[in-house]
Amino acid sequence: QVTDTLAKDGPSSPSYDWFQTDSLVTIIIYTKQKDINLDSVIVDHQDDAFRAETVIKNCSYLIHIELSHEVQEDFSVRVVENVGKIEIVLKKKENTSWKFLGHPLENHNSLIPRKERGLYYRKCQLISKEDITHDTKLFCLMRPPSTHLQVPIGQHVYLKLTVAGTEIVKPYTPVSDSLLLEFKEPALPNNKYIYFLIKIYPAGFFTPELDHLQIGDFVSVSSPEGNLKISKFQELEDLFLLAAGTGFTPMVKILNYALTNIPSLRKVKLMFFNKTEDDIIWRNQLEKLAFKEKRFDVEFVLSAPTSEWNGKLGHISPALLSEFLQRSVDKSRVLICICGPAPFTEQGLRFLHDLNFSEDEIHDFTA
Ligand code: FAD
Ligand code: NAD
Repeated sequence: QVTDTLAKDGPSSPSYDWFQTDSLVTIIIYTKQKDINLDSVIVDHQDDAFRAETVIKNCSYLIHIELSHEVQEDFSVRVVENVGKIEIVLKKKENTSWKFLGHPLENHNSLIPRKERGLYYRKCQLISKEDITHDTKLFCLMRPPSTHLQVPIGQHVYLKLTVAGTEIVKPYTPVSDSLLLEFKEPALPNNKYIYFLIKIYPAGFFTPELDHLQIGDFVSVSSPEGNLKISKFQELEDLFLLAAGTGFTPMVKILNYALTNIPSLRKVKLMFFNKTEDDIIWRNQLEKLAFKEKRFDVEFVLSAPTSEWNGKLGHISPALLSEFLQRSVDKSRVLICICGPAPFTEQGLRFLHDLNFSEDEIHDFTA
């Protein structure tokens, strides 16, 4: 017996259906919402459980079934955006006719607030690890073929490792593999690789363990979490990014998205705070991008530079911000994104409010 658990005040109840041909089984999810895309659905087929979680507004709609017959490992996902329909096309292992789709598993056909769903993990394989600065590395993980997972801009996932029988979990923000490549070739939808820029803290709990992984080893990756609304970018004219250290990571996809998808955008400015020149992640790429792309500027601010540094100095301050946050035109539509160590973000937010930017014009990244 399949039961529905509907969230109060949530979107109007989604539903699903299925049909088959000789070789394919198509599961259709009717979200009854328009703002649905390939980021909205996460599909996993592992250990005999087929799971499709659709994020609809602040709710999560779950299909969770033990399929009645075997299917091939890979599948495809399509979205018909204007009607909010999601199609998951599975390939049958044998061309027999299925009498029913499968048996419902826990919480099948339920719609609950997203926060109550709990994180779901799948094992991803370490494909490569590249030194970026003296203490940050670019990790490339590969999703299993039986997973469809795209992390929306501004969202993070949790990485999980089991060390001496204990699970350790920390949040990380996926990036693109480079700032420059994506401008030539936009990432393929449903790209099978996920990239992370991660600073290794020698005395840290998690990052040394991550750093010890060998190519081919597995890390569990959760479903995405985060609250940046892509609608904040609509009609945007000035985008200011304030990043400190690895707080740069959410800015990578934001930069790419804004420069390629927002025609109204006049200017994107990044103020990047680091301790020393050696700590600046992708400095070369940032400078190249600023050279190539007229709308983009970058300024580096160092808190502990060598005596040769003749650029900007110090920590985040009202003086630095009021000079930096100049609108391209009077009363332009502006968004300021801020991310870094907690004291940096807290101070920055206070200064931004003092400079009369509204809540609506600011997005801060915290856990
Ligand atoms: P921890 O064990 O947390 O230690 C970190 C450092 O602090 C070490 O130097 C340690 O010696 C020191 N330390 C620990 N405890 C104390 C203490 N009590 N007093 C003084 N010092 C102490 N990081 C990235 O590199 N890339 C990302 O993309 C990224 N995304 C994130 C997204 C979100 C939403 C959040 C909240 C954080 C993100 N982080 C990111 C940070 C990441 O989650 C971890 O906090 C970071 O990797 C450190 O983990 P760790 O367990 O190795 O270190
Ligand atoms: P870091 O220690 O190398 O410092 C980088 C810069 O941050 C410094 O040069 C300084 O300008 C500023 N800063 C540091 N401490 C400060 C303080 N007490 N007051 C004011 N400014 C300060 O930075 P890191 O080791 O790369 O740490 C990056 C931080 O960003 C981590 O705490 C990480 O958890 C956080 N982070 C958060 C997210 C998120 O989405 N919430 C994403 C990525 C990183």
